[in-house]
Amino acid sequence: MPQFTNVKVSKVSEQTSLFEEALKPLKRAANIVNLEPDVVEVLSNPEQMLIVSIPVKMDDGRIKVFTGYRVRHNTSRGPAKGGIRYHPGVCLDEVKSLAFWMSVKNGVVGVPFGGGKGGITCNPKKMSEGELERLTRGFAARIAKFVGLDQDIPAPDVGTTAQIMGWFTDEYCKIVGKIVPGVITAKPLSIGGSKGRGTATGRGAFFATLEAAKTFNIPLKGARVSIQGYGNVARPIARDLYEMGCKIVAVSDSTGGAYNPKGMHPIELTKFKTRTRSVKGFPGSKEITTIDPITVDCDILIPAALENQITKKNANNVKAKLIIEEANGPTTPEADKILHERGTIVVPDVLANAGGVTVSYFEWVQNRMGYYWSDEEVDEKLKQAIHKAFKAVYQNAQQYQVDSSKAPQQSLMDLRTAAYVTAIKKIVDAMRALGRI
Ligand code: NAD
Repeated sequence: MPQFTNVKVSKVSEQTSLFEEALKPLKRAANIVNLEPDVVEVLSNPEQMLIVSIPVKMDDGRIKVFTGYRVRHNTSRGPAKGGIRYHPGVCLDEVKSLAFWMSVKNGVVGVPFGGGKGGITCNPKKMSEGELERLTRGFAARIAKFVGLDQDIPAPDVGTTAQIMGWFTDEYCKIVGKIVPGVITAKPLSIGGSKGRGTATGRGAFFATLEAAKTFNIPLKGARVSIQGYGNVARPIARDLYEMGCKIVAVSDSTGGAYNPKGMHPIELTKFKTRTRSVKGFPGSKEITTIDPITVDCDILIPAALENQITKKNANNVKAKLIIEEANGPTTPEADKILHERGTIVVPDVLANAGGVTVSYFEWVQNRMGYYWSDEEVDEKLKQAIHKAFKAVYQNAQQYQVDSSKAPQQSLMDLRTAAYVTAIKKIVDAMRALGRI
């Protein structure tokens, strides 16, 4: 039987720092809306956390034991929803932070879900397809009682793919003895995936960029774009911005980076990375490091890799006027403060990358109906959802503006706090309606 725990993890553990940092904007927003400290305490603790051991027979015949996690942060607005990450850095503290951000994100974009997240500490790049399949099936078997269509709905994240979602679905359906495609989202189309899900996070971030450019008068034609992390979420926005007339001047991945002030073609970059497994060495570019895209000369910066990339050490060197956070948690609270004081507009992760969960919600709805929408319908509904969420966040930023004597970007409340205010009000309303607080 898997071990269920809903106890608070000790703060003396060396792994609590990311979660502690993740709670800072919640505390800021809570002060603004005068939320009672007891309610903040409830929101500062995930509802449930499950840790499992997964023994996997490796190709060489050895058994290796992996650790997997699934955390439900808050389910007052609906079933928990959030991806599964396969990465060597996965730990309970990270999964708790990611689950918490999902509660906020789902509140910001208004999908009827709570927040959840999962992950396995592993290096998928060093595993064969067979090993990955056995790992995924083992994980699905161990968390099958914890997830479900009306309970907790996983999806991909860093290091996981549509194929991994397919294996997970198959194993889950065998265990429960039913066909339940909606237990997971971002599945392959052939087993109930939604049109547009593969590019949804990037597409949503693109719509958020259009909203920000219009709101803050930032011209997109000719704008220089720098992207850290050229993976699933980065490629679609690179293509869409390129088609709007932007120049992709810098990109990086975990192996290194490429810089060309004249611009690089996003499709060619994708082909090059598929062939060589790296963006490093892209023809015509100068080699840069994985972190350089954060500080190169550009107009729009898109962190699209991992958390804690913009810190107090490099925030003063960020040249971009606009940051679109495709990654979860790429900016530390200290860096956030520096950026706001310098007038840099940060469209926070909980809004900028909410396109993925929005189309996951559409997929879940389609699975429940057994009726499927066209690419155009999905894209239009996504555009409307991001437009509505951006407008609500911006209205809060204006309503709670900090100093009307300063330039517009500095007098507004930062968009992250405004987004947290938007989400917290909804989560707390739901908790009160359920009588949980
Ligand atoms: P991915 O694995 O497809 O891509 C991540 C990319 O980042 C890869 O190219 C990898 O090489 C690169 N990378 C890793 N470490 C790096 C480093 N130190 N410096 C530079 N590049 C580095 O993952 P993804 O699905 O594109 O997710 C990226 C981010 O977006 C994550 O923070 C994830 O939580 C977030 N996100 C993903 C989704 C989704 O739908 N996949 C939705 C919302 C948010």
